[in-house]
Amino acid sequence: KVGENDKGIAPGVYFRMQLCGITGHQQFATDCGVLLTPAETVPVAAALIRVFIENGDRTNRKRARLKYLVDDWGFEKTLEETQKKLAFPMRYFPLESCEAPTPKDKQGYLGIHPQSDGKHYIGVCTPVGRMTVSQMLALADVADQFGRGEIRLTVWQNLIIPGVSEENLQAALVAIQATGLDHRNHNLTGGLIACTGSRGCKYAAADTKGNAVALGAHLASKMILDQPVNIHLTGCQHSCAQHYIGDIGMMGTRVKIEDGSTVDGYNIVLGGGCDDQQFIAREVWKSVKADEINPLVEQLLCAYLAQRNDDESFAAFSRRLSVDELHSLVDRSESTIAAA
Ligand code: SF4
Repeated sequence: KVGENDKGIAPGVYFRMQLCGITGHQQFATDCGVLLTPAETVPVAAALIRVFIENGDRTNRKRARLKYLVDDWGFEKTLEETQKKLAFPMRYFPLESCEAPTPKDKQGYLGIHPQSDGKHYIGVCTPVGRMTVSQMLALADVADQFGRGEIRLTVWQNLIIPGVSEENLQAALVAIQATGLDHRNHNLTGGLIACTGSRGCKYAAADTKGNAVALGAHLASKMILDQPVNIHLTGCQHSCAQHYIGDIGMMGTRVKIEDGSTVDGYNIVLGGGCDDQQFIAREVWKSVKADEINPLVEQLLCAYLAQRNDDESFAAFSRRLSVDELHSLVDRSESTIAAA
């Protein structure tokens, strides 16, 4: 948000442009000083992509990313080349003169929330982003009948139905629950996300979506959390589910077992965060077999509930403890869980 200023920028809500975030490389995006109106975002993104297509190295999969071009050129040249492809001048404004956005809801906006126009939006949990065709059609009907014919997707792999009036709320909730999906916030499943995994991606070392759903069901049957804990499962180092910025992050790896073959498994990182809580998670366990993650995470969260300070978040708790202290929270005597 930009307020009154002496730089000739109209007060209002804008987007700031950040470049080169690749959390899989443990790197957050950096603000490049540009302020965009909503209408300018698409042309500027398109211009940047054209600059990359013309100048980036797209012959090498490992280098085929905008980040490498910007690393070579720096922001100044990248923005100069982008500007040449635009019909309007980009607007520069210092980050510190902007009002920061309100922190995001870590549970993906599940539940019923008021809108500024007096209506409501309903956040619906779609576990790891999966729905059947009949559920999709039924939710589209809910949006048409009780909302404004619109569905929005969230980065937590859930969805939002906006524009529901007070008198339609109850009927909309009944219709949502009839699909087998749920709008209620369970503090664990709402922030549980997984990349495509081995069911649909050749790079995957594990069945991320299947393991995530099983983990969510296991934890929901064992405990109730009073604060959201986000769990991100990603199938390989490409980090499509951004494991380094989850409270609990897991990256797929093949784990060797006694007979010499390998099974699905994960390296586990703890304490990641984004936005105002920006932090790259630390690796705590390596090569945990997929069938050992449920008891491990259960023990970890039980220890968190028992040992945290007052209303300390899981991220703060796990950052406060050393890696050795985190190891000691989980009993490994009957498992092959390896410490990092
Ligand atoms: S993180 Fe890896 S396994 Fe998962 S979808 Fe991306 S490329 Fe595929």
